[in-house]
Amino acid sequence: MSTFTHRTALVTGAGRGIGKAIAETLARHGVTVICVSKSADSCGATAAAIVAAGGKAKALAVDVADGAAVAAAAEGLLKEFPAIDILVNNAGITKDGLLFRMSAEDWNDVINTNLSSCFHWTKALARPMTRARWGRIVNITSVSGIMGNAGQANYSAAKAGMIGLTKTLAREFASRNITVNAVAPGFIKTDMTTEFVNNPEISAKVLEAVPLKRFGEAADIANMTAFLCSEEAGYITGQVFAVDGGMAM
Ligand code: NAP
Repeated sequence: MSTFTHRTALVTGAGRGIGKAIAETLARHGVTVICVSKSADSCGATAAAIVAAGGKAKALAVDVADGAAVAAAAEGLLKEFPAIDILVNNAGITKDGLLFRMSAEDWNDVINTNLSSCFHWTKALARPMTRARWGRIVNITSVSGIMGNAGQANYSAAKAGMIGLTKTLAREFASRNITVNAVAPGFIKTDMTTEFVNNPEISAKVLEAVPLKRFGEAADIANMTAFLCSEEAGYITGQVFAVDGGMAM
């Protein structure tokens, strides 16, 4: 994969886990990365690590579920950066529970953070991409959005919604040379999964469903995402790539 030093990317949820790995991988390819997370400390730490390694990065704390906050943040960024060519919608949360025990608040929080955030950021950043006739959008969905998962009605609905959004925007933006794809991680070792990854009984049960019989690393998702953001991936759009040890095949 060639370097893409002249590109700028915005990665949401870049403070930890998969988003951090995506931000660092893009930065290693020469991309200037705007690292977004909810807390200033976590995106600040990722941006600082990128800069310490010789890359270019900026930290930005914004609640991606808040449409007005995203619009205001994007307006400021577009004054500072001539182009934001790459958008990775990765920020996400889980609030699991069986349907009868799931509150409307937990439903809304998960839909707003995982799905509505993609609408807010894409709406705010895609217009300059259309003018530039170049853009890459990658949405980090989940195998739960493909297969469903008991206890995750809110999360799997949000992640399935991201797949529908990806395919629709791929069609809407294709004539402007903007590709829109989704990456669907399986079980990846991050803060989100610590509870069961560190529990031998639960992890043995979970791994029964994974043909490769191990958990994935954040780097596995970052490598696929960086490829989809590259020049070489220019003829790929509207696709969902499961990176899941074979779980969803
Ligand atoms: P993680 O370790 O929990 O990190 C989540 C990141 O998202 C954090 O940086 C967090 O910010 C940010 N975030 C959460 N809510 C936010 C909000 N309202 N506004 C701004 N930023 C927010 O999660 P992860 O495991 O890396 O997951 C990343 C993505 O992959 C998620 O969309 C997740 O659904 C998806 N995924 C993960 C797995 C897995 O096995 N780990 C599997 C399938 C899909 P702070 O750092 O400030 O808290």
